Amino acid sequence: MIELIEETAEATSIVLDLPDRQRHRAGQHVDVRLTAEDGYEAQRSYSIASAPEDAYLVLTVERLDDGEVSPYLVDTLRPGDELELRGPIGGYFVWEEVLGGPLLLVAGGSGVVPLRAMLRHHQAVGSTIPVRLLYSVKSLDDVIYRDELMGMAADDEIDVRLTLTREQPEGWRGYARRIDQELLADVAWPPSEGPLTYVCGPTSFVEVAANALVGLGHDPGRIRTERFGPTGG
Ligand SMILES: Cc1cc2nc3c(=O)[nH]c(=O)nc-3n(C[C@H](O)[C@H](O)[C@H](O)COP(=O)(O)OP(=O)(O)OC[C@H]3O[C@@H](n4cnc5c(N)ncnc54)[C@H](O)[C@@H]3O)c2cc1C
Repeated sequence: MIELIEETAEATSIVLDLPDRQRHRAGQHVDVRLTAEDGYEAQRSYSIASAPEDAYLVLTVERLDDGEVSPYLVDTLRPGDELELRGPIGGYFVWEEVLGGPLLLVAGGSGVVPLRAMLRHHQAVGSTIPVRLLYSVKSLDDVIYRDELMGMAADDEIDVRLTLTREQPEGWRGYARRIDQELLADVAWPPSEGPLTYVCGPTSFVEVAANALVGLGHDPGRIRTERFGPTGG
């Protein structure tokens, strides 16, 4: 591990320099295993935040206060420490240019992590496939990769729509509620344009978003989902 980047108060990126790194596909994850001195082991999955083309492998972990593994990764890990990883894993929640688009990315909280890998990959291969990111997050301060995403949006590479569910800055004119069918109807391309959609976040978020898209007439076969955890967020 070479570097830690504080992305928000709760989320930290872990930059890893791996000796024999296997090329991953944007959207895949790795399993991280921690072993305590007494031999106790805990393993969790973390999406890869970097593009296959990037020099290092990056994970971004959000701290769950009552969690076992995430507080360690966010608060205790130090540059130079080693992590045991397995992967890359997953062949379904991946995006490559041959899969086409238009590409609709729907993130809840840390669910933005694998979608960021897709965005960086899209940029690295110079894809002209239109991309839209709908990102639901509690407040502006909780937006992970904020500068990078806003930079991509300013360059017209992607269209970013935020919904700030708990706290909005003064004068905020974007969405200010949890995603629902109406919000998705507003943001998504119409079903007739056949967007390829990736939804990632807490389990309940993913279910609401995927059901709403299907309710709007989107082909379930073009909606790929990744569930991060058991509870809502
Ligand atoms: C394929 C995959 C990719 C993932 N990628 C990422 C990633 O890129 N970044 C990231 O931060 N996390 C990611 N996760 C979630 C991660 O694997 C862990 O579940 C998370 O870090 C919590 O682990 P913990 O040991 O801290 O909490 P635990 O000790 O496992 O759980 C503590 C409490 O939090 C609840 N909980 C567990 N996971 C979540 C969750 N995701 N959301 C809300 N509540 C939860 C549990 O029910 C429990 O009440 C991913 C999960 C999967 C399956």
